[in-house]
Amino acid sequence: MTQELLIGAHTSAAGGAYKALLEGKQIGATTIQLFTANQRRWANTPLPPEAVALWQETIAQTNITSVMSHDSYLINLGAPDPEILQKSRQAFAEEIQRCIQLNLTFLNFHPGAALTDNRQHCLDRICESIFMVEDLVGKSSLRLLFESTAGQGSVIGARFEELAYLIQKTAPRVRVGVCIDTCHAFAAGYDLRTAEACDAMLKEFDRIVGLKHLFAFHLNDSLKGLGSRVDRHRPLGEGLIGLECFKFLMTDPRTRSIPKYLETPDGPPLWTKEIAMLREMAGEK
Ligand SMILES: [Zn+2]
Ligand SMILES: [Zn+2]
Repeated sequence: MTQELLIGAHTSAAGGAYKALLEGKQIGATTIQLFTANQRRWANTPLPPEAVALWQETIAQTNITSVMSHDSYLINLGAPDPEILQKSRQAFAEEIQRCIQLNLTFLNFHPGAALTDNRQHCLDRICESIFMVEDLVGKSSLRLLFESTAGQGSVIGARFEELAYLIQKTAPRVRVGVCIDTCHAFAAGYDLRTAEACDAMLKEFDRIVGLKHLFAFHLNDSLKGLGSRVDRHRPLGEGLIGLECFKFLMTDPRTRSIPKYLETPDGPPLWTKEIAMLREMAGEK
């Protein structure tokens, strides 16, 4: 029996978290990513018990697993401003609590941005922020994933060396890992246009971070060029990366069984097609 491939998309939780599962089922997904709260506001409330009950019922109906939350864009765990840092840490802890309520597998987040400060201080503040949730995460099965970034402005996590620093510091105490976003990695300067280039990227990741720390992919093509440091997602095959990368990730034994989440523009009709295409690439009917 072949292991079921974990492919999905960032589906909409408008009208309740369980709706993201239903949308996932509709598009043929076996996993999904969602926002557990409004991603553009400082959310601060736990989920009501009815929402949790509905979620559990819908999980049982849809058989969707390895669900990932993407945290709020406002959170900066390495913020130099003490007030923003404090708000970020509080919102992050509250996000973790919602993830635990829903029994999620992953919480994906952008590591942080140095802004006016130097990058090393920012990296160390991010590690401190992670240590603050050590007990909370320890009581659950949740894993926190540092997302690879495009490197726009002063954001941390475009280079594997920075992800490696965060992992080496935090992994001994907190359940953490990395999610590679293909669009971000390409914009950050890692070529993914051919199978050979993808192989070289994985070897580099393994050398610097370690493949055992890689837990997920965001699958997106890129509007902007290699090393552009600009994060603009395109449908698979309609950007500058091209389809060979996605075929590689669906077939290579190092990446085939790793959960993959689409964040391509256009929503459910596109995702239905892309999920079917990815399954076909993997040799599944
Ligand atoms: Zn992201
Ligand atoms: Zn992006």
